[in-house]
Amino acid sequence: MKLLSVGTVAFDAIETPFGKTDKILGGAATYIGLAASVLDTDVHLVSVVGGDFPDEYLEMMKGKNINVDGVEVVEDGKTFFWAGKYHNDLNTRDTLTTELNVLENFDPKIPEGGADAEVLMLGNLHPAVQLAVLERMKTRPKLVVLDTMNFWMDLTWDLLMDVIAKTDVITINDEEARQLSGEYSLVKAAKKIHALGPKYVIIKKGEHGALLFEDGKVFAIPALLLEDVFDPTGAGDTFAGGFVAHLAKCEKFDFESMKTALIVGSALASFTVEQFGTEKIQTVTPAMLKERIKQFKELTTFEELV
Ligand code: AMP
Repeated sequence: MKLLSVGTVAFDAIETPFGKTDKILGGAATYIGLAASVLDTDVHLVSVVGGDFPDEYLEMMKGKNINVDGVEVVEDGKTFFWAGKYHNDLNTRDTLTTELNVLENFDPKIPEGGADAEVLMLGNLHPAVQLAVLERMKTRPKLVVLDTMNFWMDLTWDLLMDVIAKTDVITINDEEARQLSGEYSLVKAAKKIHALGPKYVIIKKGEHGALLFEDGKVFAIPALLLEDVFDPTGAGDTFAGGFVAHLAKCEKFDFESMKTALIVGSALASFTVEQFGTEKIQTVTPAMLKERIKQFKELTTFEELV
């Protein structure tokens, strides 16, 4: 199945306890596209960049069969810019700067080739843009997955509620799930979020793994134990990209398929955190992914007591 994703294509400046970068390639849609490309998915991106965005980045994505026809270039505009600083535990971070720039007036256009995608990933960006993309698809996709963050909860609550009501799956981190639901318990939070619309609720817990909820059912996975975690930026988006790409490939959207999709997403995210920005995920091959999935199995399988 075809996958269409909207999200930011961005410049990021990142500071972790291990180092600091100037403006490097980032953005939710970038990570989603790169993750989906590892699975050789027919993936189409919708986004916007400014005239300051290097051609080589778009060429790199095209080279990985990521369709960027829907990435508009506003020649006299500036690309979305985000700067963040991680705390020593690497599980929490402060946003230092968010400059919306060309995202401020973005009116998304769905390229002809992507408008009939069966799977739609509404990656992190303004909920008005997410809504517009959903409304501009030829027909309602078979699966709509949403990712968002506290920034949009703080600024655009009502619009975000509209998008959430129209999605099948939401992926959100633990802190954001608590903010969205007003509940500390993640079980209660998931229940409240189900009631807002999504049939499936995924709560990401950084180095502590992820949870998948479907009314009354739950599946939990740890994160792989990595020796070196360098920069968590993009882990959530890589996870989302791997998750939807797996579902688009297997063409099934039931709880069991979502469990496997959770593993695929987490395995891919485990690469992203090993180097700055998109450096590592750009180098991942299907064989590397397969090996990580095997490690997941070894980490979590045990004999039943008789
Ligand atoms: P993650 O670490 O997966 O939560 O996502 C990090 C990416 O999200 C970075 O590459 C940023 O460019 C992008 N980002 C940060 N803030 C926002 C925002 N408010 N809307 C959309 N994308 C954002």
